[in-house]
Amino acid sequence: MTDSSQNSKKPATQAVTSGRRKAWTGAVVNPPVWRASTHLYDNVADLRAGLSSNADGQFFYGRRGSPTQWSLADALTEMEPGAAGTMLYPSGVAAIACAMLAVLKPGDEVLLTDSSYDPSRSYADAFLKRMGITARYYDPLIGADIGSLFTDKTKAILLESPGSLTFEVQDVPAICSAAKEAGITSLLDNTWATSRFFPALSKGVDISIVAATKYIVGHSDVMMGAATTHDKYWTRLRRTAQRLGQVVSPDDAYLAARGLRTLEVRLKQHEQSALTIAHWLKKRAEVGLVLHPALPDCPGHEVWKRDFNGSSGLFSFQLIDGDEKSRAVFIDSLALFGIGYSWGGFESLALPVDPGKYRTATDWTMKGALVRLHIGLEDPDDLIADLAKAFEHYNNAL
Ligand SMILES: *Cc1c(COP(=O)(O)O)cnc(C)c1O
Repeated sequence: MTDSSQNSKKPATQAVTSGRRKAWTGAVVNPPVWRASTHLYDNVADLRAGLSSNADGQFFYGRRGSPTQWSLADALTEMEPGAAGTMLYPSGVAAIACAMLAVLKPGDEVLLTDSSYDPSRSYADAFLKRMGITARYYDPLIGADIGSLFTDKTKAILLESPGSLTFEVQDVPAICSAAKEAGITSLLDNTWATSRFFPALSKGVDISIVAATKYIVGHSDVMMGAATTHDKYWTRLRRTAQRLGQVVSPDDAYLAARGLRTLEVRLKQHEQSALTIAHWLKKRAEVGLVLHPALPDCPGHEVWKRDFNGSSGLFSFQLIDGDEKSRAVFIDSLALFGIGYSWGGFESLALPVDPGKYRTATDWTMKGALVRLHIGLEDPDDLIADLAKAFEHYNNAL
């Protein structure tokens, strides 16, 4: 466990130095892959002493990790101002599920944003419901009015800002401050921004969650989740994850830590290229709204300007006269954009999205068809040429 409040280094430096304790790396730069289930103790007294400690840096048994996993968790803690610790999980969904279980019990109610990642909804609607926990959904633009939804059963809020399909930016400080006043725990899915572009705990969030699968790993080859929290929730978050047997492999932790070292330069390039392409799209006659938090079309854009340190590579845009068929022609015509789920890797992706299918608290009335793009690290000129060609095919299909 590291106290991140001690850290005054700039983000680029932190991405390079954090978590690399000499005790864990030895004489090499990166913490080696410690593959271990059993840890061998010197004698019975040593074994007994191991039971009484539950801190990173103390070997116990493989389920509690080794220096490879501790180093990564430590790095993520250092990079989140105000954090007391970070738990790692085998996927982003596992991080969301376990963090919610850490703060909810039967009879409780949880509020989720209507713009939630679909698997978060399905976890709440199916699994939590079976545990006797009720889920209710709120308008992502509700801001401080969230208080009007609180009942004495409301115990947690799951925010996601911006939403990963529709990109509404929430007034996280206002929502979290109302929650805190009412004794409600706030959890944020911070996958889009990471702590680099949105230092969540310092904005009032209690537990900040990322699908590390995306920008932390950055190379589309590992699944991982992480939840970072301050003192008040750290022990509870840790114990819950341990009791649920959550562990990531040292090989995966190694790859994620390797990705983390270039997070700063990758995020900045994703940001710049995505902005170039979003502005280019905005000028196209075929395009209506460009739902990118840094563009005025995006609901919550003013809040983004106030609260965020940057924007990442994921956004959506409206094909104003598009339908299912012409949108498929557009996406199928792209050569440099892969068609697939996930994002945050070095490669560009395109996905048809239909937010109306999921909403319950708000209506999704946008006409036309929505396309989500992840802008990778290719040259933006090539990506623009690819998009221009796809528009030609799309126009012929209308
Ligand atoms: C991908 C994603 C997740 C889930 O992460 P996995 O590692 O794929 O389980 C959670 N939230 C958001 C916003 C995501 O995009």
